[in-house]
Amino acid sequence: MPCPISDDEIRKAKERRRRKARMDQRTRERLPVLPVLTSTADRRRRAAADLLQVARNTEPGALIPGTDGSLRRAIAPTAAGHLTWAEETASGGRRRNLTYEEEEAFWAFATIEVLRLTGIRNEELLELTHHSVTQYRLPSTGEVVPLLQIAPSKTDTERLLLVSPELADVLSAIISRLRGPDGAIPLVASYDVREKVWNPPMPLLFQRDVGSEHRAFTPTAIRKLLINALSTTGLTSADGEALTFSPHDFRRIFVTDAIMNGLPPHIAQVICGHRSIETTMGYKAVYPAETIEAHRAFIARRRASRPGEEYRTPTAEEWDAFLAHFEKRKVSIGTCARAFGSPCVHEHACVRCSLLRPDPAQRARLADIRDNLIARIAEAEREGWLGEVEGLQVSLAGAQDKLAQLNAEATRRSNAVSLGMPALGQIALGRRETKEPSPTADWAAAGSSEIGPWAHSARRPTRRTLR
Ligand code: SF4
Repeated sequence: MPCPISDDEIRKAKERRRRKARMDQRTRERLPVLPVLTSTADRRRRAAADLLQVARNTEPGALIPGTDGSLRRAIAPTAAGHLTWAEETASGGRRRNLTYEEEEAFWAFATIEVLRLTGIRNEELLELTHHSVTQYRLPSTGEVVPLLQIAPSKTDTERLLLVSPELADVLSAIISRLRGPDGAIPLVASYDVREKVWNPPMPLLFQRDVGSEHRAFTPTAIRKLLINALSTTGLTSADGEALTFSPHDFRRIFVTDAIMNGLPPHIAQVICGHRSIETTMGYKAVYPAETIEAHRAFIARRRASRPGEEYRTPTAEEWDAFLAHFEKRKVSIGTCARAFGSPCVHEHACVRCSLLRPDPAQRARLADIRDNLIARIAEAEREGWLGEVEGLQVSLAGAQDKLAQLNAEATRRSNAVSLGMPALGQIALGRRETKEPSPTADWAAAGSSEIGPWAHSARRPTRRTLR
């Protein structure tokens, strides 16, 4: 019994292409503004840390220095004594939790930096632990290089990323912030929303102090951090809406930027932990500039592979040689279609040659040749000239093939359907009812025997068309 779901219903190619175009556009929109986002996030966390530090050194109830009198250190409730609060002196004395603001600004900065420098997935970010930072000693030079171990990822395949100096600074800031008095990072349990299981307590790098305990960041918290960080940049999309970044946008940007800067796609595949390079290339956005540059490079390569003297105006002698070539291509039973500048390598055995375009006007001659070959084969067989029979049979097959080509051409012409296309003269002049017959049209009407050496091209070549 046939499946009730049709092919059209399960074919997803068009949908996939549309999704890819949408994602590419998203990446193209966000990649140029990434430096603005990172610098704004860095400035924000520094400003929040400075403000918190100054507020801590201010007596409760006093104006906080450096705020132009707009903030006053609030008197915190006893239960939340480790938090630093401030009150705005204007606008009804709104209270601000400066500790929370500093924390949010720091973690937004850390999230953006780690995501953009590693291209890891959101769930991989949340599973980074202090143990993920390892080191490797190069056997050749003895140099120690820091590595970031990503495990487990979506594919359950561990991978190691080289830690760049920028990433090392960010990881160092995170670890310094989380270390307790004993130098250890608190162990926290996290909930894996995809696997729907609680992971055992680990020294997670993305955890924060909530009340009296440490808790792991959740995917929702990461998204909120990014939204708040974006809102301080004032960046907008092409339609004027506030620009948003999802954690996966950083992954697409990472792949696009890396490949555009010369990283081979198969290396990017390993770094991203993709099983297929198709997935990696799917992440990479294509820019129109890339297409144009690739095409120009192709033309430059092709030109480089041809002698430079070919790119000039032909001399009169060369032009005459070119025209003479076409004159020489006329043979008794049609037209030879070999390329310009190439000699006949078939010893002018045109009946057997696939390059011969038979002339309909020479059908009778071809039929004579075929009859003659049949008679000669019969004679050779009768006389016992078996060595000649084989060659004659090849020629006979060639002649029959050419006759078949002529028959097929005649059938095609007799079955031709007029499409009622407007003639060139009518379009150009508008007022003319009938078009004066052109030489080309005459040739076409009379068959290729009248067209002469230009049968293959419909019009005589000019210097312009040959350049
Ligand atoms: S044998 Fe072929 S290549 Fe040679 S002249 Fe005849 S058609 Fe041209």
